[in-house]
Amino acid sequence: MEQTQTAQTDAQSSPSKNVFSLEGKLALITGGGSGIGYDIAKCMIQAGGSVVITGRREQPLREATESLGERAHYVVNDVTERDSLDSLVAGIEATHGPIDILVNNAGINMKKPALEVTDADFDRIVYTNLNSVFSLTRVCAQRMMDRKSGSIIMISSMAAYYGIDRVAAYAASKSGVEGMVKVLASEFSGNGVRVNAIAPGFIETAMSKTAMGGDPDRFARAMRRTPMGKFGKPDDIGWAAVFLASEAAKYITGASLPVDGGNSIGF
Ligand code: NDP
Repeated sequence: MEQTQTAQTDAQSSPSKNVFSLEGKLALITGGGSGIGYDIAKCMIQAGGSVVITGRREQPLREATESLGERAHYVVNDVTERDSLDSLVAGIEATHGPIDILVNNAGINMKKPALEVTDADFDRIVYTNLNSVFSLTRVCAQRMMDRKSGSIIMISSMAAYYGIDRVAAYAASKSGVEGMVKVLASEFSGNGVRVNAIAPGFIETAMSKTAMGGDPDRFARAMRRTPMGKFGKPDDIGWAAVFLASEAAKYITGASLPVDGGNSIGF
């Protein structure tokens, strides 16, 4: 029985088939106008897919789609306006077809000692990085499950795993995302929808530059914690997202993939 199944699987995937291809797939990438989200879009397009990127500001989205080419589109949307997410997804699907891949990438951070973090600060960060992620995922997942197919990717952070000073709210939000991934993966797996996270280490973007605050000591400390001794590039996250979205990852769900130059080996 086992041998027959193996033979069938082998026959279905011919040696020339590119299982990493996203040809014919549409991805919705929040926060895709800059930083990591932009490179996720770029890599997905390079892998043959199409993308819709979102963000709060139109100009970076317009410039990003112009540079990404004809398989890129944008919609101005603030993920914290949770009532807008149903019509966001319905509008995208009516215009561009079914969303096969959702990348919950939009996120914000703020570095402050815990005792200086106000309730408003805490709420703003957790609301953007966790509550909104849940709402958008619920909207997309329902449609994906009806079609019995889909891949959902959360951009988490190593801050979910390690005690990094001055990011209490951010760490709480990303730990929440990590917990949610496992539950959603379990609940959705019977309907063909996979849910995974990518946990980036230090990646060169506006967010990480702000977090380092131009402080060479802080940068040196970060590099001491990074066995590969350098920041990652946004496309390091992009290619991991392509992998998790592709058929090559068809048996992976509920996972969190560190892409961190080795930080997770030991902090
Ligand atoms: P950036 O600040 O460079 O980009 C964040 C993007 O999210 C922007 O395009 C921004 O666009 C968008 N965004 C922010 N808030 C909202 C919102 N409410 N609604 C819609 N879009 C929004 O950050 P990064 O690229 O560095 O970070 C991307 C993700 O990666 C985040 O989830 C972050 O937590 C995670 N990460 C980053 C690491 C790093 O080292 N850079 C490390 C670990 C995790 P606009 O302002 O126009 O809305």
